Amino acid sequence: MKKINKNKIFSWTLLLAGGLNLFCSEALIAKAVPSSTFVGNGGDAQDLDLGVTLAVISNVSQSLDAGSKDTLCKCSDEWQENDICRVLRQLSSQEVKACQQILLTYGQQLSELAGRKSPVVYDWSYSDMSVRSQAQSQRGRPVDAVTQPQKKRIIINRSRFQAMPPSYRVALITHELFHLIPFEKGLLTDEESAPPFASGRAMLNALGAAIAMEANERQVFKDFNELRDVSRAGKVHRLYLEGRNIRHPEKSANSLLKSPNSGGTALGYIYQPGSLGLNISVETTGYSGSAFGIGITEKQAIYQLGVQYRFFPWNGYLSRWNELYVTTGLNAGFGTSYYKASSRYVDKSDKASLLSVGGAAKIFIPLNRDLWITVGSEFRQLRYEYKTLRIKTIENQVVNTIGGAYGF
Ligand SMILES: [Zn+2]
Repeated sequence: MKKINKNKIFSWTLLLAGGLNLFCSEALIAKAVPSSTFVGNGGDAQDLDLGVTLAVISNVSQSLDAGSKDTLCKCSDEWQENDICRVLRQLSSQEVKACQQILLTYGQQLSELAGRKSPVVYDWSYSDMSVRSQAQSQRGRPVDAVTQPQKKRIIINRSRFQAMPPSYRVALITHELFHLIPFEKGLLTDEESAPPFASGRAMLNALGAAIAMEANERQVFKDFNELRDVSRAGKVHRLYLEGRNIRHPEKSANSLLKSPNSGGTALGYIYQPGSLGLNISVETTGYSGSAFGIGITEKQAIYQLGVQYRFFPWNGYLSRWNELYVTTGLNAGFGTSYYKASSRYVDKSDKASLLSVGGAAKIFIPLNRDLWITVGSEFRQLRYEYKTLRIKTIENQVVNTIGGAYGF
């Protein structure tokens, strides 16, 4: 029987310094989320880890029946050192019974809420969220997720979610989903009492831990092992290196005796915290050849800054293609252009400042271990003037790129 990596659990425990204490908050304090919190729009909510988490919750909760009571809301010896177990071990026998009863009664609803046709909307927060409870009005405590029942919306702290082991994600999201399930007395908040549990929060933590433990017991996570190493679109930073084939089909550069094609490389960095991202790159391109016995060299260095919008064209549910995405954006750049023409009779060179502006689209194809293949195309216009040679160039280019990227 495969055990989940306990070292990983241990480091997570240290990280939070408090063991499993899923920091969640619900509607009444959700408005306390600071306005600086950037919440990505729905275009980014498609996430493989979230998809796996929801599938696990849905599968486990759907299959609960009276026969599950042997393990449900309990901790077996095998998982003794797991923090999720710790939550369950602390439950009184009355609480275990209540936990089982709730899960057997509401399991089907939970399964539907976690299922594919669920109305629940997920958003990511890219900065720490904190909430203020009524009691402590000054500084709030940091939270991993916020649920807004009216909007059926769950906002998740992106970086903390990514750092969690799979079973913790299941515990967290189960907790949040139960904020959306109406019990006899209506929706449950963290703060209110929920006997026999000490509070709503304690009850929901127990339910979350129970579903996560049940998933461990049934080895449900194993079904998704093949997705473990797939590169995740959610990584905020990306470095890339690409080869560029540049076509300048117009005749505008004729006086420079250039070929209609040149090539180069670009090294770039992308900051993509959500649907919108920034792109910085350094590009060196060049052409050398000869015409009419004259050797021609032109070299350009271009520093580009761009803004880009990211979207996911396919809903590759629970597959690698879930992470494939496309960016489109606008770039502006500046740089230098160097030109040299030499033959037995002439030897001329000149240097110019250049400006560029253009639009680009790029596909990011996920490999494994945060590596990506990129394929893209850019249309841009370069302007520069060789003053000594008195040649002014306005050149439209089509740039095709292929490269590799690393996310972190
Ligand atoms: Zn909660």
